[in-house]
Amino acid sequence: MAILTYHHIGDCPPGQQDHRGLWVTAASFRRQLEWLKTNGYVGIALDTIAAALTGEPPLPRRWVCITFDDGWLDNLTAALPELESAGFQATVFVISGKIRQGDPAHPWENFLSAEEIREMQGRGICIGSHTRTHPHLTKLSDAQVAEELVGSREELAEVIGMQPRWLCYPFGNFSPRIANIARDAGYAGATSTIRDNRVGPDQLFWMPRVMVMDDTTPQRLAYMLSPWYHYVHAWKNRRRWKSIK
Ligand SMILES: [Zn+2]
Repeated sequence: MAILTYHHIGDCPPGQQDHRGLWVTAASFRRQLEWLKTNGYVGIALDTIAAALTGEPPLPRRWVCITFDDGWLDNLTAALPELESAGFQATVFVISGKIRQGDPAHPWENFLSAEEIREMQGRGICIGSHTRTHPHLTKLSDAQVAEELVGSREELAEVIGMQPRWLCYPFGNFSPRIANIARDAGYAGATSTIRDNRVGPDQLFWMPRVMVMDDTTPQRLAYMLSPWYHYVHAWKNRRRWKSIK
């Protein structure tokens, strides 16, 4: 079980090798989903996790929650067909200030348009917020953070017809101060880059995730979903995220 993080689905474009880790080819993605399906993993929503943490029905024994950061066009064109054919749902965290932006010279930098976001929502994808402008939130004042979090909720609400419930911190950059502002802004919770494959009831505003990359083989995926991964990272997290608990 784990919340999985993806960004782009597609071939890493020339000149983008520095960002290699953000690209998972469609073939690798398909292989990863097939492995999950074959091994009995059920795709669940963040809402289902939140409900289970607050005493509602327990989670299936084997689950994954698939998330995509940034709101790239390839999430619709490349990821969604694979998700649909393997039967997994997902959440896409959109940067509300970048909707429909892109650069014809760098087609891989195209963001989803409002219509494309609505299409994804109509096909069962949960749309979350990844702020307005993708800043390092801890560097901003309380008012600026509120502007990013409330502003993106409002902008996304105009696109999807409802306030997004889930937030994803850009660069995984947050602090207890940021989490409080997110709570006040009305979010149900937020995902972070803390690495773990378990979510505790006290972690709704810094839900840990596991980042999947192109070279994540089935063996590696099995490890990432195992208790061993949890034990290794729980130990590391106690030191790295001392200020959060
Ligand atoms: Zn991001």
